[in-house]
Amino acid sequence: MEISQEKKSHFNRRAVLKSSIAVLAGGAFTRAAEAAAAETEPAIRNVNTHSSPSTLKITDMRYAVIVKPGPSPCVLIRIDTNQGVYGLGEVRDIAGPQYALVLKSRLLGENPLRIDYLFQKIKQFGGNARQAGGVCAVEMALWDIAGKVYNIPIYQMLGGKWRDSIRVYADTTESMDPQEYGRRAKERKEMGLTWMKMDLGINVLKGIPGTVMQPAGLTPWEQRVQPNLFIATEVTDKGIDRLCEYVAAVRDNIGYDMPLSMDHLGHIGVKSVIRLGKAYEKYNLEWMEDVIPWFYTELLKEITLASPTPTLTGEDIYRIEDFEKLCSEHAVDKIHPDLATSGGILQTHRIGDMAFGYGVPMAMHFAGTPVSCMASVHCAAATRNFLALENHSLDVPWWQNLVTGIEKPIVNKGFIKVPDAPGLGVALNDDELKRHLKPGTEYFAPTPQWNDVQSWDDALFS
Ligand SMILES: [Mg+2]
Repeated sequence: MEISQEKKSHFNRRAVLKSSIAVLAGGAFTRAAEAAAAETEPAIRNVNTHSSPSTLKITDMRYAVIVKPGPSPCVLIRIDTNQGVYGLGEVRDIAGPQYALVLKSRLLGENPLRIDYLFQKIKQFGGNARQAGGVCAVEMALWDIAGKVYNIPIYQMLGGKWRDSIRVYADTTESMDPQEYGRRAKERKEMGLTWMKMDLGINVLKGIPGTVMQPAGLTPWEQRVQPNLFIATEVTDKGIDRLCEYVAAVRDNIGYDMPLSMDHLGHIGVKSVIRLGKAYEKYNLEWMEDVIPWFYTELLKEITLASPTPTLTGEDIYRIEDFEKLCSEHAVDKIHPDLATSGGILQTHRIGDMAFGYGVPMAMHFAGTPVSCMASVHCAAATRNFLALENHSLDVPWWQNLVTGIEKPIVNKGFIKVPDAPGLGVALNDDELKRHLKPGTEYFAPTPQWNDVQSWDDALFS
């Protein structure tokens, strides 16, 4: 009879064990020793014997609204279970708690470890930009629970680390003075950052005659909400020369060795973007960001083909299909999802892998508290084509005090060490969070008014 490979190796292992024990026992091998060896062989370590994954159920969802400098307020959510273990998540900055709370009735009683199933169940309640905030917050919290139940960091559940620390990039506050811009950039470099961004748009040209061509009398709505293709606003040669003074000042201060990205060019037309991309070529920018709305794929492609300065978009995109369209068309050079909009940890990991296949690198947008920062860190650690993670709180000393259980400083010389604690790897610092609670709101108060489903939304097709 043929002995299978598995059985052969089992026999061999037992034979080696048996002979080792025989040597140790001076040849007096006994049945008792064999039985003891057989007992110790299958020992499994690092299992959290306090949890019972198959009977885990979601019992509650509560929230706290935190106010901080920069994009704010930020809503933290806590998903509780019947076994005491809870998960933390964060709604995308500047979105209300209702985006998460509307999901509560769809989650109560469910097993939180069914992460992909639950994401697909609630995906319909997410949308672009802040509209996805609730779905993504829930997804982060489910991963946090899974990590705590199985005693494992989230990055490991995604397939393991590509890197031990996550590169952080940041911009500075703006100034109307190019030299001041340069000085602030230099300060950032001295903090240890290895990647910089500058916000530079036509707003710095305000009041300088002959720099921007724009019909007089545009309403605030036209200037803010109308896509820039429809407001006939173009930058002139004089305007481009002035903008170049700012970039030159920054490069003079930080040198040409570190990547420098650019955001918030202002609402200008396609041809103006291309002309700026050409003018900035000599400053070797890493990318120009969100130059027109992300859904104009063909126009983005036109810009990307014509501009020697690379393009990037993605912080407001929810669906992986929309990222894939941009990547497969090479409509931008790089993508930039915000994990709190792009479907959470698993979807953003999938977006990165998809983009890798098209040869497109992925930076990550982020502007919230350390909770969603850690969600981004785990995803970045486990995703091959990751470049750098944004941070908007380098000047806020108490930002990192909002959480405990992680090595401080969280951002250390431009990098965040990937934590090895279970789940996200952070717990809440209640005292610090309460100091920054939005006035008039409560700290993780009960939310029974969101317990009941009030519409039938299981069937999305008939
Ligand atoms: Mg941006």
